[in-house]
Amino acid sequence: MRQLLAALALALCWPMLARAQASALPWDGAAGVRAEQQRLLGAIERIPIFDNHGHPGYAGDPDVDAMPGVAANLPLRLRPDNPEWAAAARALWRYPYDDLAPAHAAWLARRKQQLERGEGRAYFDRILDALGIETAVANRVRMPAYLDPQRFRWVFFVDSLLFPFDTREYQSRNPDLAVYIPAQVKLRRELMAQAGAAALPATLGGYEQLAAAILRREQARGGVGMKFEIAYFRSLHFADPPRARAAAIYARWARGGAPPAADYAAFQDYFFRFLLLQAARLRLPVQIHTAVGPGDYFSLTGGDVLNLENILRDPRYSGVTFVLLHGGYPFDRQAIWLAARKNVYLDSSLMEFYLYPGALARTLRRWLELYPDKIVFGSDAYPFDPAIGAEECYWLAVKSVREALAAALAGMVEDGEVSEARALQMARAYLHDTAARLYARP
Ligand SMILES: [Zn+2]
Repeated sequence: MRQLLAALALALCWPMLARAQASALPWDGAAGVRAEQQRLLGAIERIPIFDNHGHPGYAGDPDVDAMPGVAANLPLRLRPDNPEWAAAARALWRYPYDDLAPAHAAWLARRKQQLERGEGRAYFDRILDALGIETAVANRVRMPAYLDPQRFRWVFFVDSLLFPFDTREYQSRNPDLAVYIPAQVKLRRELMAQAGAAALPATLGGYEQLAAAILRREQARGGVGMKFEIAYFRSLHFADPPRARAAAIYARWARGGAPPAADYAAFQDYFFRFLLLQAARLRLPVQIHTAVGPGDYFSLTGGDVLNLENILRDPRYSGVTFVLLHGGYPFDRQAIWLAARKNVYLDSSLMEFYLYPGALARTLRRWLELYPDKIVFGSDAYPFDPAIGAEECYWLAVKSVREALAAALAGMVEDGEVSEARALQMARAYLHDTAARLYARP
């Protein structure tokens, strides 16, 4: 088993990475840009990575996300017939096939299951080692014994606290909400039970105290940040109702009955803001999903990252560190201007799967030319199925980002915008240093 995993590091295709694919970038024609790109790529491959966001875990582990999956029309690169998945498997596991045909995928699933059982914590540590990832944030409901706390930092989910009332009306709005919302209610009940609360408190003040206790408990269990997936469940625009309105809504519906949509939304508007203030108090960075999501009913309009601007630019939340996951994609061009605010950061996770390196290089160059110190790498690695796992996702995200980053920075050096030394400093900040500072233990 040990030898097999040691071979993993060797088998990993560094030479393949070095042959950055032709991406037809507008600056590719400049003399010397290719040589610059190769030089930068060599240096970038040696930078240890801090992964700001991912869902590490074995296939079938129900705790890798607080949201169950829904049927989704996957974009091209995420489909199982993308040949890059087989390339990942060949690099990581000496997979002997060129595709993921069912019999071949079964080979891969079996190979991983054997190793998972034998290696314990070493299994994922060695994946990180092989890919040059020093530390990875794990967005999970809870941490399993098989992830090494020295390498994985836990960010926990808090959306469930926004669903204290009966959700029958809420989940009847579309078939995806009918899947998502019951899972939130279940998690909120579990968190309450762990905090010793069998039933909802009678008043908003009581619920605020309970929520604050739950957050403190998750932090004490190792949580280094909190995460909202709320864009899947409602608009990212949070109005600013007075506390008295939220208290009246709470008093009316905490005892039972399904509140109308307007009441639920107003309560969430208030309570989202309450949770942000708690995050500031506990010095927990706040990750928010801000990209288009899968499913037939994800609202691009409601999920537009610009909906958060009233919150991000509100001085009451100056003490909150916001990390906008997925860079607001496809509104990444606008999102970078939100990072002008001192306490707002963008993460590029998921974009490394939605976009090929050529397109990602364009986005990264724009971001690097504006706020290079406010952007962080994230993988969004996720165990899709027994064959395409978090392992393959880490491989694809790391490969893509290194190629794209080298291409973006080579263009900037070639155009005389930055020196090569400054370019590499930007690469280190983006791939490691900025995120490492965000989650530094106090
Ligand atoms: Zn994610």
